Amino acid sequence: MKARVIPRLFFYIIMENDKDLEAVLNEFKSLMEDSKLEPEEKVPESEEEKFTITAPIHTTYYNSGDFGVVNETHLSGHKGVDLRAPRGTPIYSIGEGTVKYAGDQGIGGLAVTILHPDGFKSYYAHLDSIKCKNGQKVTSETIIGTLGDTGNAKGRIPHLHFQLWKDNSLVNPAKYFYVPKYTNVSKAEKYSEVIEIINNLVKLS
Ligand SMILES: [Zn+2]
Repeated sequence: MKARVIPRLFFYIIMENDKDLEAVLNEFKSLMEDSKLEPEEKVPESEEEKFTITAPIHTTYYNSGDFGVVNETHLSGHKGVDLRAPRGTPIYSIGEGTVKYAGDQGIGGLAVTILHPDGFKSYYAHLDSIKCKNGQKVTSETIIGTLGDTGNAKGRIPHLHFQLWKDNSLVNPAKYFYVPKYTNVSKAEKYSEVIEIINNLVKLS
């Protein structure tokens, strides 16, 4: 509103400059009142920045284990999601934070735990290698390790076991970033094999 009114005021000054100053000012005043100047749009000085979560894998991944699923290896329910991708795929922090633990964690194998703002904590297990250190500051662009099959995933198809906590309670990561529908591993395997064969045929033709 204000931005539109000001040029009009200038126009008045120029066009009416043969009137006496007092008359011009009075016209200004009435014009200002008529236009009911709105206060300038408020730009919040310290808008609360909400912690944004991105997926720990930035390339294609499958879901090879849903959150909460109860089976012979997870009698009390799967505590995270299993994201399957080729061994060596870079694993990223889900957002800004500080590495709380990076090392061999036993059944989790090579694993990383990161503390984030807003009471979030993330855990990345079965890594093939670790690319971060305790206490390191990270962002969603920091590669913290690579996907593998260490710990109790040894001998199974390489995947990232990922867990997320909010205020010390486990939450379903699928609420915070895209987790595809569970795919039967062998089907996914066959599917990617078929894709590779087609790709090779296309290259040859
Ligand atoms: Zn898992």
